[in-house]
Amino acid sequence: MTQQNYSDGVQQYVEKGKTMSAAVKAQRAMMRGKKFDTIAVHGIYNMQAALSNQGSIIEPAYLSPAQHFENSDHMEASLAYLMPSWTYSRIANPTQGYLEETLALLEGYGYNGDVSAIVTSSGMSAVFMATNPFLERDGDAPINFVASAKCYGGTFMLFSERYARERGAELRWVRDPLNLDEWAANIDQNTRFVFGEMPSNPSLGMFDIAAVAGLAHQHGIPLIVDSTIATPALMRPLQHGADIVVHSLSKAMTTSGFAIAGAVIARHGIPSRVGPDELRHNFAMYVKLLPYRDHGPGLSPFSSLMILNDLRTLRSKLDVMSSNALQVAQFLSQHPGVEAVFYPGLPGTPEHDIAQKYMWLVDSEEEYGSPINRFSHLMGFTVKGGVAATRTMFDHLQMIWRATDLGRIKTVATIPAISTHQQQGEEGRTLAGVPGNLVRLSVGAEHPADIIGDLEQALSAVSQKTVTQQTSR
Ligand SMILES: *Cc1c(COP(=O)(O)O)cnc(C)c1O
Repeated sequence: MTQQNYSDGVQQYVEKGKTMSAAVKAQRAMMRGKKFDTIAVHGIYNMQAALSNQGSIIEPAYLSPAQHFENSDHMEASLAYLMPSWTYSRIANPTQGYLEETLALLEGYGYNGDVSAIVTSSGMSAVFMATNPFLERDGDAPINFVASAKCYGGTFMLFSERYARERGAELRWVRDPLNLDEWAANIDQNTRFVFGEMPSNPSLGMFDIAAVAGLAHQHGIPLIVDSTIATPALMRPLQHGADIVVHSLSKAMTTSGFAIAGAVIARHGIPSRVGPDELRHNFAMYVKLLPYRDHGPGLSPFSSLMILNDLRTLRSKLDVMSSNALQVAQFLSQHPGVEAVFYPGLPGTPEHDIAQKYMWLVDSEEEYGSPINRFSHLMGFTVKGGVAATRTMFDHLQMIWRATDLGRIKTVATIPAISTHQQQGEEGRTLAGVPGNLVRLSVGAEHPADIIGDLEQALSAVSQKTVTQQTSR
């Protein structure tokens, strides 16, 4: 931003802005001393804030698109980004702001440094906003980026179609994200960022965050982690060296399913080969004030409030859903009609050691006596008998929803090859580890016996069908 001479009137607002910023900063610092659940319940909305909102004890939904200014000096100071203000809801909004502050505190829980967050209209727009700024052209110099091939279908398409095919950035997939040598071999002097999903949707792929962050940092580039499946209740990548975390808030962060949304959460002081100093200093704020303003992926204030409301009980919900998921995974792994179960909580899966290193229920030591591992609500399993058997099992589910969804309080099943991972084709699915007989199961908070019961009867429909076919032959 260019240096200008501002009038005394504008200067007065700049001073007022400093007081406002100091108050928010003090509240943030105070909340950082609280436990995870307390932060999730209150965020930074305190009694002082309530008194300037008619005493409302719940954060109000500011549906107004724009802010009224006291006078022209106030307008000028605000629009020049010289004081805290929200001006226009595409760029900022108070309700959105409460959510952003809460997310920064939750994702930054236990991390010793400053963290900022922005919320977006979907998880995909968050992945876009977190990565696109690093692909800035630098004359004719070649550009590449390195990403784990085990990733969400939408991310797969954004990277391969939009960035690689349309724009010519070279995409280097890491096929086995557990293999550090593969990450190392792909990163070079033209790499702009490193991206990984931890754990991945739907194949539950994993990688060693600290080790991959180390490789990225040796090259002066950021590690971006999509930790949608884990949520900050089970894992906080910033603590382990990641620079930027992205979330689809549409999933377990909003178990009710009342919103489609995303978030970009970044620590201050990240490495980058491109962009201005502001990008390195506070990536989330830089994105919000500039590229986000121009691309327009702002989140509705109404959705922001729905998400805030769901986040208040994040930890306890993820605890129940994850412990249910482990029981379901154990049941499936012993069922004769199941070929394989992909759940990082099961000993013997290749991801188990890394999962044990990174996935812990936050603040669990008080409740359980010592910290406990929780491996999330998501799993995959393959059905014996191929695609036809898989569809038979799927079609016989009576309580578990058939939907392309996950992270719900209700259990939901999907066949990725004919839904989320349909458009990337056979080759892309092989790369991402998505065979045709894979079922993705997102375990909810029903009683685990009832979830298992529904799966049991659906799987027995497969064996009955096979028996009927054999006898009629
Ligand atoms: C769903 C999902 C996304 C995309 O989120 P939307 O809110 O649907 O746009 C990105 N990453 C992961 C891991 C997801 O599960």
